[in-house]
Amino acid sequence: MSMIKTKIIATLGPASANEQTITSLIDNGSDLFRLNFSHGTFENHKQMLDLINQVRDRHPHTVAVIGDLCGPKIRTSNIEPDGCEIHADQEITILNNNETGTAEKFGTNYENFVRDVKVGQRILIDDGQLALQVIKQQGEQIVCRVIVGGLLHSHKGINLPDTALNIPSITEHDWRCVDWAIENQLDYLALSFVRTADEIQKLKDYVRKADSDIQVIAKIEKPEAVNNLDDIARVSDALLVARGDLGVEMDLAQVPLIQKQITALGRKLGKPVIVATQMLQSMIESATPTRAEVNDVANAIMDFADTLMLSGETAVGKYPIQAVKTIRQIAQVTEAYLDKSDVPRPKIHTAQELALTAAMARSVAQITDDTDAKLVAVWSQTGSSARLLSKARIDVPILALSSDLRTCRQMALHYGVISRCVAIPEGITELADLVDQMAMQRKWVDSGDQIVIVAGRPLGAAGTTNAIMVHTVTQ
Ligand code: ATP
Ligand code: MG
Ligand code: MG
Repeated sequence: MSMIKTKIIATLGPASANEQTITSLIDNGSDLFRLNFSHGTFENHKQMLDLINQVRDRHPHTVAVIGDLCGPKIRTSNIEPDGCEIHADQEITILNNNETGTAEKFGTNYENFVRDVKVGQRILIDDGQLALQVIKQQGEQIVCRVIVGGLLHSHKGINLPDTALNIPSITEHDWRCVDWAIENQLDYLALSFVRTADEIQKLKDYVRKADSDIQVIAKIEKPEAVNNLDDIARVSDALLVARGDLGVEMDLAQVPLIQKQITALGRKLGKPVIVATQMLQSMIESATPTRAEVNDVANAIMDFADTLMLSGETAVGKYPIQAVKTIRQIAQVTEAYLDKSDVPRPKIHTAQELALTAAMARSVAQITDDTDAKLVAVWSQTGSSARLLSKARIDVPILALSSDLRTCRQMALHYGVISRCVAIPEGITELADLVDQMAMQRKWVDSGDQIVIVAGRPLGAAGTTNAIMVHTVTQ
C-alpha cells in the first residue's frame, strides 16, 4: 500500500465495531478512530477500545483514539419506529422529558427544553434536515408546526438558532466522559459546540490536574466560536471544522469560507486542522461517491487540511472500508499534484516559544528541495518539531520518532508524519543508523538516497531541537 500524507479519522459505530473491520480500516489507511460519546454506553466504548488495542498492538501503523464529547448538544429522545415520517403542516408536541417518542410527540435529553424555547422560534433537527416552529406553550410541553418534514430519527441533534440556552458548555455527562477518557488513556478529546477559549482552557486544566497528557481538539460549529477563532486556536491542540452543525447554526453558504479561514489559521499557528461531516455521505448507502464529494475531499486537501474525518460513513454505513479507500485514492492524486506544483508553502508563525522550531521546519523544507532528499526523519520527543515540520508541507514523508508512546499516537493527526515509538538512541550517529534501517526495511529509500535528519541534544529532552543533518543512506 502506497503512503498518503492526508490523515483519516474513522468514527466507530455498529457498522465497524468488530475486529475484522477495524483491522481492515487500519490496513486501508485509517490513522485515528473516533468514539462518539453521543451514542452508546461506556460499555460499548470500552468494547470498541479493547478491539482497537488488540489490533493496534500488532500493527506497525500508529493509531490514535479520539473521544468526542457531546458538549451542550440537544438530541431527540428514542423514536419508535426509528425514522418515522413527519409531514409539513402537521402538529407535533415536544415533551419536557426524554421518554420514547413517536411521530406525534417526542422528548429531548435537555430538561429545560420547554422552558427555554419560546413561541415563534425555530427548531431544527438532524443537521437541519427537519424544521419545526413553536406555535404554543402548554404547561410542560410545547406544540410545534412542521415546516419541513422528513424522517424523524432517535438521538439526532437539535439546533435552536433563535433561542438563548442555559446549558453549561461542558455538562455533567461530559465530565464523566472526560474521566473515562483519561482512565482509558485516549489520545485526544474533542469538545463540541465550543464558544470561547476559556472552555477549552478549563478542559485542559482539568486534564493536566489529573496528570494526563490527553490533547484537546476544538470543534468549531457555533457562530460564537467563529468570532473567537484566534483565541480558541491558541489554546487548543487542534481544530475541527464541524460542518454539520456549522451549516445549521450559520448561513450554509458561509461554510466553505469558514473552512478556508480555519485551515489558514491552523497554518499560521502551526495547529492541525480536521475537516469533518458529509465528506462521503452518499457512501453510507452507495459503493461509489458523488462527483461533488470527490471534489470536496480533494479541495479540503488543497485547503491544507491535515486530516479528514468520516462519521456515518464508517459508523453506520454499508461501505466503511470502501469509504476509507476512496479518500486514499483521492488523496494520492491530489497530494502528487501539490508536491509537484508551485503552490506556495504555507507560512507558519506559531507562538513565541516555538519560533525557533518553526524556523527549523521552514529550513528543512528548503534543504529537502535542494538536496532532493527522499525522507525527513526527526527525533520529536514531545511532538512539537514533528507538528511544525508537518505544517511546513515538505514534499517527502516525515518519519517522527519519540520514546513516548502517547506522543507517537498523537502524531497520527499530523499530515505527512509517520510516527514510531523507539528507545532513545545514544547519539545522532546511532539515530542515523536507526533511521537508515527503518527506512530501508520499509522501502522508503534506497542505498545512496539522502535523508534529512532533524534532532537536538541531548536526544529525548524536550525543546532542544537544533540540529539539521543531511545524511546519505548506506547499506
Ligand atoms: P456529531 O455532531 O458529534 O457529529 P452525530 O450524531 O452527527 O454527532 P456522527 O458520529 O457524526 O454523529 O455519526 C453520524 C450518524 O451515525 C449519527 O447521527 C448516528 O445516527 C449514527 N451513529 C454514529 N455513531 C453511532 C453509534 N455508536 N451508534 C449508533 N449510531 C451511531
Ligand atoms: Mg456536530
Ligand atoms: Mg456528525
